[in-house]
Amino acid sequence: MRYLIFSDIHGNLEALEAVLENTSRKKIDYYIFLGDLVGYGASPNEVLKKMTALKHLIMVRGNHDKAVCGLDSIQTFNPIAAAAIQWTRKTLLKKYMSLLSSLAKGPLVIHKNITICHGSPFDEDYYIFGEFDAVEAFGYFDTPLCFFGHTHFPFIYMEKDQTVEGTFIQENPFEIKLEKGARYLINPGSVGQPRDRNPRAAYAIYDSEQRRIKFYRVEYNLKESQKKILAASLPSALAERLGLGI
Ligand code: ZN
Repeated sequence: MRYLIFSDIHGNLEALEAVLENTSRKKIDYYIFLGDLVGYGASPNEVLKKMTALKHLIMVRGNHDKAVCGLDSIQTFNPIAAAAIQWTRKTLLKKYMSLLSSLAKGPLVIHKNITICHGSPFDEDYYIFGEFDAVEAFGYFDTPLCFFGHTHFPFIYMEKDQTVEGTFIQENPFEIKLEKGARYLINPGSVGQPRDRNPRAAYAIYDSEQRRIKFYRVEYNLKESQKKILAASLPSALAERLGLGI
């Protein structure tokens, strides 16, 4: 089975389109989305339309999805993120608002041996930033593999012989073969708002038969996303950060 693993689109239609276009000739059996469909970007309705058209899509909710549909307050968000959430609340169609409120809470175990979550397997809103967090997270799932998002950094943590080692993925593409006897926590990076100083959209493909995961970065029409953010009167910092990849 081949899985497209992606996360954190944040209302960026152009980035999502580039990822789907880039994978259109690669055989994908399942789409696994790790949360944050909306928030920050100017195309929440268009992103939800595209996503709901995908067959074999499995999703968990992100903190921005929860805040937009009112399952969470905006108090924990910085002023710019909070402004974007309020804008998205006003803009989002009713049917998509109810879709956001019906999204599953992670962690979920899918296909018996894959755990998926937004932040971490012990708290959907927690950021796994570094090996210390990863050590704790490995204690909260039993499968060999757990995919997570939320930090917007492509990363692999491998647990083997009671040690945990993290690797920040900077090569494009970058492929790993999963080792027998090891367990993995893997973040594919962010589609719509990368924060690792690489503005290109990030995703990964997991091939369960080959036991391989390949990370990719793809260019998208960044200028168009920025133009839409400014035209929507969203905070201009949200357009600037896309260009910098922060
Ligand atoms: Zn996010």
